Amino acid sequence: MQPFLDECRAVVGDAHVLTDPQAMAGFLTDWTGRWTGHAEAVIRPRTTDEVAAVMRICSSGDVDVCVQGGNTGLVGGSVPPSAAATGRPAVLLSTTRMTDIDDIDTVGRCVGVQAGATIDAIDTHAARSGLMFPIDLASRESATAGGVVATNAGGTRMIRHGNTRAQVLGIEAVLADGRLLRRWSSLVKDNVGYDVPGLLAGSEGTLAVITRVLFALASPPPATTVTVVAIDHVETALDLIGLLRSAGLTIEAAEIMTQAGVDLVHEHGQRRPVSTSAPFYALIEVSGVGEVESEMIDVLERADGIVDAVLEPGPARALWAARENHTEAISRSTTTPVVKLDVSFPLRALPEAFGELSAIEGLVGHPCRAILFGHVGDGNIHVNLLDVPPERTEEITARVFAVVAVNGGSISAEHGIGRAKTAWTHLGRSEVDRTTMRAIKTTLDPQGLLNPGVLFG
Ligand SMILES: Cc1cc2nc3c(=O)[nH]c(=O)nc-3n(C[C@H](O)[C@H](O)[C@H](O)COP(=O)(O)OP(=O)(O)OC[C@H]3O[C@@H](n4cnc5c(N)ncnc54)[C@H](O)[C@@H]3O)c2cc1C
Repeated sequence: MQPFLDECRAVVGDAHVLTDPQAMAGFLTDWTGRWTGHAEAVIRPRTTDEVAAVMRICSSGDVDVCVQGGNTGLVGGSVPPSAAATGRPAVLLSTTRMTDIDDIDTVGRCVGVQAGATIDAIDTHAARSGLMFPIDLASRESATAGGVVATNAGGTRMIRHGNTRAQVLGIEAVLADGRLLRRWSSLVKDNVGYDVPGLLAGSEGTLAVITRVLFALASPPPATTVTVVAIDHVETALDLIGLLRSAGLTIEAAEIMTQAGVDLVHEHGQRRPVSTSAPFYALIEVSGVGEVESEMIDVLERADGIVDAVLEPGPARALWAARENHTEAISRSTTTPVVKLDVSFPLRALPEAFGELSAIEGLVGHPCRAILFGHVGDGNIHVNLLDVPPERTEEITARVFAVVAVNGGSISAEHGIGRAKTAWTHLGRSEVDRTTMRAIKTTLDPQGLLNPGVLFG
């Protein structure tokens, strides 16, 4: 590998080709701790030209490339496979030095960013021009532009603005052979052929290395109010969303937590959002043009099934913390790598699905804890199974996906397939659909260098 590494060093500089195992360790294990991979080096380019040069070197040397942004992905796609998996050498290409953010186009309401810019940095930059980045997730300080596009992230504002694909106006990406693909226009109406930027959204590093993205921006909402309601049934949350909409309020976010989840974050130092205990808690943020708070109180008084409620003007960070600290508290509390399954259901099937998924913890022959939470307005449940012995992971995953299949849901709502779910893509995609996806992959990456083992297994 020495000549190969020397070529890479000549492109990005000695300091940015890491080969020391200690320096590489943090890059090679994913956020969940469930996947650790092997790479000959971690390569950290600064520019698109450097990415293109590195890809040309990898292509001619037949070296696999795993692309990594903030390494907050939860399905194992951001780390390479183990050494034996492909029989070819692999490198990890990290975008963490590609953090440029252009000036905001306040008329076109968009911004161009490099792939390694974090969601928090993009939003902070947009806020200086009175705008906001419509994608928001609890991993905002690490998750990158390239990562949210590659996973087509949803997040807490999805119910209001749509997923990441909906925010992508233009894209610049380097193909596996080093060629540059650039479609960069702030036109919101532009129907010349296939939606290639849209195709790269959700491609999980298997089609190209995204180097820059032109994102649409949004206006921040006027006054917002956040409520957390303690409720006995999931239906109550769905009914409440309907009532708030009928009252003319705009739903900015609609989340759900369970008693077990709120208890867990409380054990990790977070104050309870509502003092009364209940099986479920819904956090709903609304905006509107009038007296938003009094309109929300009016709706809460009319709604059935609310056990207790608190209300705060937005951004209500303390209320949000109870929801956003779930992922962190779960990973600190589990005794084995947490089995994280991010699934979605038609809204009508959501209450039934919650019941069936809660019962999963009793179905394997080893005690495990199920913590469910998620984006209730989108029908998206994050199923977290703690203390699952690693040898039972496949079995318990199959049980969760059986619930998904029976209720007409999806095995991946917003995290992608990664390495975690490749064996189950047939549950959501037909043979013809999967063959079409494979044909696209082969066309763009005939050597199969980009993220082998991700999405296709
Ligand atoms: C606390 C927490 C909360 C989260 N909340 C949400 C949530 O609400 N909604 C949600 O959707 N996700 C959520 N996630 C998951 C994660 O943050 C998202 O999937 C995010 O989009 C990953 O971004 P990243 O930069 O960390 O990507 P990485 O983890 O580095 O990579 C993820 C995938 O994208 C590919 N990739 C990364 N950069 C590029 C690039 N430049 N070009 C091509 N491919 C690339 C990788 O190869 C990999 O397959 C959460 C994670 C955590 C830890």
